[in-house]
Amino acid sequence: MKPKLAVWKFSSCDGCQLSLLDCEEELLQLAGAVQIAHFLEASRATRPGPYDLSLVEGSISTAREQAQIRWIREQSRQLVTIGACATAGGIQALRNLLDFDEVQQQVYPQPDFIDSLATATPVSDHVKVDFELRGCPIDKGQLLELINAFLNARRPNIPAWSQCQECKAAGTVCVMVSRGEPCLGPVTQAGCGNRCPAVGRGCYGCFGPAERPNAAALSRRLQELGMDPASLQRYYRLFNANAPAFREESARHE
Ligand code: SF4
Ligand code: SF4
Repeated sequence: MKPKLAVWKFSSCDGCQLSLLDCEEELLQLAGAVQIAHFLEASRATRPGPYDLSLVEGSISTAREQAQIRWIREQSRQLVTIGACATAGGIQALRNLLDFDEVQQQVYPQPDFIDSLATATPVSDHVKVDFELRGCPIDKGQLLELINAFLNARRPNIPAWSQCQECKAAGTVCVMVSRGEPCLGPVTQAGCGNRCPAVGRGCYGCFGPAERPNAAALSRRLQELGMDPASLQRYYRLFNANAPAFREESARHE
């Protein structure tokens, strides 16, 4: 029997699930190694659990999702969250910083029909998570490495170091040093493939905080480069605004 793989969606844009379909050349090989038992983005055909590996995309934003993620945890031998929404709450977690009723009034003409929690939270706030794969969206190479690692009962080889290390390894000229451009790279986990600095723009922090980020030191440098407190506060409130290191540093500049 092949291991059963399930892919689940919560509050999200589907971009991270699509990374699995984007695997193209590797997809047939993957389908040969696992039984894809639940993946609604790809097929309506589903098989019942339990599942050997569940990949979970999206934040927990409704009471129904709270109940569903607990059921998925019970059905899954290993549960891995994929993407900024599932690992930190995503863009939708910006509402955690605001008055929820006011946000609803601003967005919907008739908010009485909205059935949502006041916060969007990462899956790990609700159930035990075996591994978190970062990114907005995730990197397909890292996704394949993660599935391979779980199939072979080993730890995924996914770095927790910062984006700066990727720039150095690739020989990318530092945009902050050479042009004084703001960059979140010193505090952001590597993994995107050095996309922004390689084309001469600062990192936007899509992969969330690196291991032991020194955000206070980065903020001091950004202030020296002319960033005012309001801009600094917003700077950390992008795709991973609710990740503790970014949330706390942002709050220091309120
Ligand atoms: S992390 Fe980004 S790409 Fe992935 S589902 Fe959320 S918004 Fe979409
Ligand atoms: S461009 Fe950004 S990520 Fe790259 S070395 Fe400079 S500060 Fe670090």
